[in-house]
Amino acid sequence: MNHPTKEQLRTTLRQRRRTLLPAAQSRAAHNVTQLTVSLPQWEQAKHIALYHAADGEIGTQSIAQLAHNEGKHTYLPVIGTNKSMVFAKWQADEPLQANTFGIPEPMPGAQTYSASKLDIVFLPLLGWDKHGGRLGMGGGYYDRAFADIEGPTLIGLAHQFQQVDKIPTDPWDIPLELIVTDAKIYHRKG
Ligand code: ADP
Ligand code: MG
Repeated sequence: MNHPTKEQLRTTLRQRRRTLLPAAQSRAAHNVTQLTVSLPQWEQAKHIALYHAADGEIGTQSIAQLAHNEGKHTYLPVIGTNKSMVFAKWQADEPLQANTFGIPEPMPGAQTYSASKLDIVFLPLLGWDKHGGRLGMGGGYYDRAFADIEGPTLIGLAHQFQQVDKIPTDPWDIPLELIVTDAKIYHRKG
């Protein structure tokens, strides 16, 4: 299989991520956190979007905690109608409530924040490449949310083993500027 499709890659990468044992999972989250907070972008950032990790994604709890300790504002995605996504205020330790897909979100009525004003957006992913290619779950939520927005630094959080030579990209795919893995920080090439 020379050029696997997005769907083929999703199947393989999803299976692979699910085989991670809890100890390896938390070690990966720990390493990613350490590297993330060493970034100059982190130091400067005041408004940071995180995600609620599921299904083997890199956990963001300790990033949320550190952001909170450092007085940074944090946000989580909220899914709306027409496959839209906005960001709502949420701090470490605040309660969450499952949306209709079962994904925990800030409580209804939580204050939303303009995506264009975020300093950093951390994105979950199934696969990544050194060119900033990101393979998501297939909903295209981040591609839509950041289609017409410049400003926020988009940082993918990943396991090293989720690296692929080349993620197939479509015209609507928004590239990552940085990928932080459990091993290393990658800056988009090309
Ligand atoms: P993911 O980014 O989650 O891996 P894809 O890149 O395959 O998923 O995108 C999933 C779907 O989202 C695509 O079928 C595409 O039509 C839709 N999509 C993505 N970005 C946009 C956009 N800017 N406008 C309209 N539809 C979009
Ligand atoms: Mg995409």
